[in-house]
Amino acid sequence: RDLPGDPRSDTIPREVLHAFYSKVSPSVKVENPELVVWSESVAELLDLDPKEFERPDFPLIFSGAAPLVGGLSYAQCYGGHQFGVWAGQLGDGRAITLGEIVNPKGERWELQLKGAGKTPYSRFADGLAVLRSSIREFLCSEAMHGLGIPTTRALCLVTTGKNVTRDMFYDGNPKEEPGAIVCRVAQSFLRFGSFQIHASRGKEDLELVRVLGDYTIRHHFPQFENMSKSEGLSFKVDQESSSVVDLTSNKYAAWSVEIAERTASLIASWQGVGFTHGVLNTDNMSILGLTIDYGPFGFLDAFDPSFTPNTTDLPGRRYCFANQPDIGLWNIAQFTTTLAAAKLISTEEANYAMERYGIRFMDEYQSIMTRKLGLPKYNKQLISKLLNNMAVDKVDYTNFFRCLSNIKADPGIPEKELLVPLKSVLLDMGKERKDAWISWVQTYIEELVASGIPDEQRKAAMNSVNPRYILRNYLCQSAIDAAEQGDYSEVRRLLKVMEHPYDDQEGMEKYARLPPAWAYRPGVCMLSCSS
Ligand code: AMP
Ligand code: MG
Ligand code: MG
Repeated sequence: RDLPGDPRSDTIPREVLHAFYSKVSPSVKVENPELVVWSESVAELLDLDPKEFERPDFPLIFSGAAPLVGGLSYAQCYGGHQFGVWAGQLGDGRAITLGEIVNPKGERWELQLKGAGKTPYSRFADGLAVLRSSIREFLCSEAMHGLGIPTTRALCLVTTGKNVTRDMFYDGNPKEEPGAIVCRVAQSFLRFGSFQIHASRGKEDLELVRVLGDYTIRHHFPQFENMSKSEGLSFKVDQESSSVVDLTSNKYAAWSVEIAERTASLIASWQGVGFTHGVLNTDNMSILGLTIDYGPFGFLDAFDPSFTPNTTDLPGRRYCFANQPDIGLWNIAQFTTTLAAAKLISTEEANYAMERYGIRFMDEYQSIMTRKLGLPKYNKQLISKLLNNMAVDKVDYTNFFRCLSNIKADPGIPEKELLVPLKSVLLDMGKERKDAWISWVQTYIEELVASGIPDEQRKAAMNSVNPRYILRNYLCQSAIDAAEQGDYSEVRRLLKVMEHPYDDQEGMEKYARLPPAWAYRPGVCMLSCSS
């Protein structure tokens, strides 16, 4: 199926059968590309000297215009369920891997340019990316890392100096936008859809699921490498679960449980910081349990369980904030179905992985919410009352929890002073709502007193899980507006702030502010899938 000749010409959209990837080189056109921003901590991961970023040819290499010496570039083939429907082959339509680097610690890191031109997987699209969405992907990758949440990373962002035409979704008129390229970094960009595509192509390609599974286990899950598939399954029964599969008998089963658990804990951590991915299609689910493919994502401002940042997700809200845990399970079900189709795991093993997803999610979620409240043990009623109050009064998710650590474990505070520590986050409220909050705070204080944890100690612990700064959409938008005028300082400042989201940073108070009125205009608070 490979076309002969220069891989640069190998960009004809097509079904790529019986293959995991296609060799392809970046074909993007550039004109005085510029380095917008780079991440020191990712450079460190790659053992890259900061001086390298000053090289005059740096923007050429990281836009793909000049080759990375020693690199073997390719685009991956994958498929996926989009909005619950099997979409067939998708693949890296605008992402091109330049190669892998093994750092001095022996870790293998893949470098991938996003927006570097067409590939066989570009379908009807142009293979390019715009500055707006590249800034969002760059900043959010690093912000998630700062929050301690597993994610693909971003090394740098360069402009191409060329414009890209995009359909704007609100007035329907095409618009020219500056082009840009992010260099993403991860140990692997494999997705659930990387496995699904081969199972979808019938009997002949089922063997490819095994080959890719073996590759993935060997490189990324070596702890399961030396398990061999035995004939029968053995079950043991314990209190928690009716059917615990003996995972020592089948490496693929152990691996699928690991992926289910990583995915569950990833999504629990999203719920903890109010992150809504926006497009949880199975092609956007990392096999390593990383947050991947930043498109129309959004962090909650006012708490709203039905919040979706993605216009394409309306009116169904399949990917809204509160649905993410269920969608994670749905996606795991697709993945385990794939492994079962390839006869790598049994139906029982598939079911067991899903069961583990549910258990792990609840464990992690309860533990995160408990820590957010600074309590020693999970209190279901207290948390659900709180979230209910927050939804009714549209309370800011980030600032509320940050502020909550100001409450003292003092049962003697007069009723009329109970809400004083929260006054910056509980705004414009009638008597009835105030009473609801007073009642909640009273119960909360009782729990704090019972915990016996000193106020200062609890405050420090709470501040280490409740971020002061979050990458709100309007902050991204301000940085984008400036960058589109050639001023990259705001992007760089935002990166620095979001690298340490749990620290109170002097002079950076404005980055913790609620969205201004303009943030609610279309295109800022709501985004669409492809840009
Ligand atoms: P996403 O919704 O961003 O996860 O993308 C879904 C699919 O569309 C993936 O196969 C992408 O590679 C592809 N895609 C998105 N944008 C472009 C583009 N501008 N050019 C080519 N392919 C794209
Ligand atoms: Mg994607
Ligand atoms: Mg995308």
